[in-house]
Amino acid sequence: MSGQLQPVDGGGGPMLCALCGAEAAGPCARCKRLVCGDCSVLTEGGSKLWAICTSCDARGGRSLAPGWVIVLAWLALPILALAAALVLMSWLWR
Ligand SMILES: [Zn+2]
Ligand SMILES: [Zn+2]
Repeated sequence: MSGQLQPVDGGGGPMLCALCGAEAAGPCARCKRLVCGDCSVLTEGGSKLWAICTSCDARGGRSLAPGWVIVLAWLALPILALAAALVLMSWLWR
């Protein structure tokens, strides 16, 4: 009955670009998301050539900053906003 939805990650499913949904060419060197050729750019990291996604390229220049810093910031932001909203509401409803 419910055989319609299947997880694409994990198993042997097709690797899809995280940005546009096309077939991915490989993982971004910075954020590790799978991206296709159209959504990745080549950057020099030391003596090696790396492929990073266009969103990483737009966000942080062409250096290989650790992706988890960006991920952590994106995770912390909504949590902080939620906490601020809760404090505000507890004040309003007094
Ligand atoms: Zn793409
Ligand atoms: Zn990336």
